[in-house]
Amino acid sequence: MTASIDLCEVGPRDGLQNLARHFSVAERIELIDRLSAAGVRHVEAVSFVNPKRVPQMADAEAVLAGIARPAGLAVAGLVMNEKGAQRAMACELDELRFVLVASETFSQRNQAASVARNVEALASVAALMRGSTRKLTAVIAASYGCPFEGRVAPDTVRSLVDQAIAAGAHEISLADTIGVATPSQVDALTRSVCADHPDVVIGAHFHNTRNMGFANAYAAILAGATVLDASIGGLGGCPFAPKATGNIATEDLLYLLEGMRLDTPLRASATIDVVNWLRELVPADLSGRLAIAGWFPPAA
Ligand code: ZN
Repeated sequence: MTASIDLCEVGPRDGLQNLARHFSVAERIELIDRLSAAGVRHVEAVSFVNPKRVPQMADAEAVLAGIARPAGLAVAGLVMNEKGAQRAMACELDELRFVLVASETFSQRNQAASVARNVEALASVAALMRGSTRKLTAVIAASYGCPFEGRVAPDTVRSLVDQAIAAGAHEISLADTIGVATPSQVDALTRSVCADHPDVVIGAHFHNTRNMGFANAYAAILAGATVLDASIGGLGGCPFAPKATGNIATEDLLYLLEGMRLDTPLRASATIDVVNWLRELVPADLSGRLAIAGWFPPAA
């Protein structure tokens, strides 16, 4: 098993994009700065989506221009198509995360494109990025289930991962966008994808919609995932998936990682301060438990 986890904080993107309360650019910058001050070293800061479709994510350029850049902070932006990638490449970013949805209906709803068309778009983005030092991660959305088509077959996801790597993705993130996975499925899919691509970093992204998120994170780590997405306070959801709820909460994941003796640069006490700041702004949208229950020393 890995000795450390690359925890990617997705609160500023996944967390804010589905909230009724729209955060201003200044508040989004403050959130990211508070997170990096707490020790976050990998953040999905923005999405280059059409602001008519997701108004909460407008003005990505202004957010990226305003944030602090402490040493070692890797900043990622989510990208849905070539146009978004062109915007992203004009910004100071370390990573582009390109979304491929694993089911046709959801792909159309999310990106107005077929799965095959999105693989072509990913290849164009990889070509656009050639010669740059930026990382290209393919996020496989709806890896475990689609809100419109139901279960997604693991072989469908494995094939899409193969296509994404052939198209030029450097890393893969298997995303349970609507929170339907269970740990045994996560174990099987993560192990098979890691076995298919032993030289590729495999990440995992869970929503806690059915309270399986942390059990799934544990299963993914044991199965070989080394990047885990989480959202401060458990904020989150997808605007194009009915009844979507938040990601696993960063501060609760830290408690799990501490118990597994896995290293991260983030300190739970500092993240709780960020949750308490969010509590003033969006008290009804927080689902994390640690900020309420408090830290408890792990076993010696
Ligand atoms: Zn998500």
